Amino acid sequence: MASTHNLGFPRIGAKRELKFALESYWKGQSTREELKTLGAQLRQQHWQDQAALDFAPVGDFSFYDQVLDMSFTLGNLPERVQGFHGDALDNYFRVARGRSAQLPEAHAGCCGGVAAGEMTKWFDTNYHYIVPEFSANTRFRLDATRLVAQLSEARALGVKAKPVIIGPLTYLAIGKSKDDTAKLALLPQLLPVYAELLNVLAGQGVEWVQIDEPILVTELDADWKHAFGIAYHALKSCRAKLLLATYFGQLRENLEWAIKLPTGGFHLDAVNARDEVLPALNYLASHKVLSLGVINGRNIWKTDLTAVLDWLAPVHERLGERLWIAPSCSLLHVPVDLASEVKLDGEIKSWLAFARQKLAELGVLARALNQGREVVKAELAANLAAVDARRKSSRVHNPAVKAALAQINAQLGQRQGAYAERAEKQAKRLKLPKFPTTTIGSFPQTAEIRIARSEFKAGAISAASYQAAMQAEIARSVREQEALGLDVLVHGEAERNDMVEYFGEQLDGYAFSQFGWVQSYGSRCVKPPILFGDIHRPQAMTVDWTRYAQSLTAKPMKGMLTGPVTILNWSFVRDDQPRAVSCRQLALAIREEVLDLERAGVQVIQIDEAALREGLPLRRTQWQAYLDWAVDSFRIAANGVADETQIHTHMCYSEFNDIIASIADMDADVITIETSRSDMELLDVFDHFKYPNEIGPGVYDIHSPNIPTEQHMITLMQKAAGRIPAERLWVNPDCGLKTRQWHEVLPALTNMVAAAKTLRATLS
Ligand code: GLN
Ligand code: ZN
Repeated sequence: MASTHNLGFPRIGAKRELKFALESYWKGQSTREELKTLGAQLRQQHWQDQAALDFAPVGDFSFYDQVLDMSFTLGNLPERVQGFHGDALDNYFRVARGRSAQLPEAHAGCCGGVAAGEMTKWFDTNYHYIVPEFSANTRFRLDATRLVAQLSEARALGVKAKPVIIGPLTYLAIGKSKDDTAKLALLPQLLPVYAELLNVLAGQGVEWVQIDEPILVTELDADWKHAFGIAYHALKSCRAKLLLATYFGQLRENLEWAIKLPTGGFHLDAVNARDEVLPALNYLASHKVLSLGVINGRNIWKTDLTAVLDWLAPVHERLGERLWIAPSCSLLHVPVDLASEVKLDGEIKSWLAFARQKLAELGVLARALNQGREVVKAELAANLAAVDARRKSSRVHNPAVKAALAQINAQLGQRQGAYAERAEKQAKRLKLPKFPTTTIGSFPQTAEIRIARSEFKAGAISAASYQAAMQAEIARSVREQEALGLDVLVHGEAERNDMVEYFGEQLDGYAFSQFGWVQSYGSRCVKPPILFGDIHRPQAMTVDWTRYAQSLTAKPMKGMLTGPVTILNWSFVRDDQPRAVSCRQLALAIREEVLDLERAGVQVIQIDEAALREGLPLRRTQWQAYLDWAVDSFRIAANGVADETQIHTHMCYSEFNDIIASIADMDADVITIETSRSDMELLDVFDHFKYPNEIGPGVYDIHSPNIPTEQHMITLMQKAAGRIPAERLWVNPDCGLKTRQWHEVLPALTNMVAAAKTLRATLS
């Protein structure tokens, strides 16, 4: 008999109950007890959802972040919060976000205001965790209260509990050393705490503990490999059996030794590392359990159950009850329940599976393996019909798009002239001053804009009055920019709620869920659009708004688009073709929009690639292949224009050190980047890499309500001019201004324009 289990369940709730409860508690509108009760209800609900499994995860629920939970379990809190007193949950929120529900005054002088924990992306997902901090003073001390309490809740409900923890090596690897302490030097004092934890859990009647070590799918140097051996030999005498879990990729050179570590079982992501199942079987010791992640935990498509059974059945024959099956990774990365989607197109809906549906698929697989396919004949037939329908659907496959893709050649991504030639022609046409000023695209999204947009969506106002409202807002933005004296204007993006959704909604091949929320961090969720079919642009998407904006001013109006790589990286994507192919389809659609804008007389076009870096694979050896097709897609989108048309791109970061050559290869005439917070330090890369085109290093930190002074911005630009020739510098904010208020934006931009004028007078 094969067993079923799950690595983790989404905790935010099918209707984002946890989000709303957290935010209400933080605002002081509900009590701690109410929040804790809601947490317990969600856990109970999620265990009920998983009742059919042989093992359900315990400890995967979190009020903020599972990595921060682990830091509390290990007693590893940043020094700055160690003096905290009061309620543990409030302290937890203070570590996470710098504050809790209590007014800071109540704890003034002790633990009122404190820096929030640093956040970063959890492997290649869009989930952000609180980075563990280490130093020479780090001391670990077990606090198993959370896990023990949740175990007893689970026990009361009759759940067959399998606690989930982050393994010691991954915990160290994803943290940050605040001094020179080598993280591995902390391992000897960390391991006894893990051992103690495992024994406490065993003492609670636990048989199996899932210990997550996703760093095994990345490149590890000899010290870290060695440390794995030390750690798992040290933990082998603990009384709980360990299921060592890996996910998000292939193990490759790590597979053989990792699977031979002395644990009771091993979990392999058989979606991403399907090729490694057979070698894994050969390396597997005869007493060990092999858990195979056969349902994709990172996307929203139905699994082809028959195809899985075809390869899984022989594995089952070989392993018998030593085979466990599960989703590939925690279901944290998918929405909770497809049943909530009452508005979604029925045909597309029939191709999808969210967390609850994925667990049902797992159940069908287990019954087929254990009792024979006959007993789930109807389920398998229905699944096959859906999977087949999707495969053949004309909604998915558009021959014209495939033909256009086949026509792509190197020339498509090639500008006509070289940068120097283009720059000259553009200068003649645009007649911009030195240190030209511009903004990144959006202006404040006022309450009126949001109301107009949601009323229009709900059908409460007509298309004409919606258009009038947006045009009024565009006119306001243009008026303000003219008064400020900016050089290259933008229309302000009032009509866009989101830079990806806006385009996805207008492209064939995209669908949108109503409740397809996925946790991004803390109480924040995103609702990625679903890219299901060949991408086709039925009509122009931005031209009317841009043309209207241009009609209001004699200054150049910048057309504003989201790039193909960013649209791709922020969507749920197809699993029936490589990402690179979907990206090229998006590139062709954006290219048409670029050319339409150019035909409409738009002289400057910005194509945002805010998420280009996010798509980097986990393994460095795979970076270049990704960068090649990503850059290629950008070039296809951007480079069809005449030399006179100026192409801008924008990125919300400037950690370019390792990818600067690819960034340069995009060949945008101008790139604007985020740099102000780093005090221009991020520009160090330009000391040794001679970036060939123009750059606008952000001088205004738009994440902060503070108004930067003219002098501050001049100083930043002077630093930039030390690395980049002054004649190739632009002056602009870090990013779009949509989250700010007009009363903040106006004085900041006034200072920015003044700074540019002073720079022109002094530096050129
Ligand atoms: N043009 C977008 C804006 O200004 C860019 C946003 C982003 O880079 N994330 O809002
Ligand atoms: Zn940005």
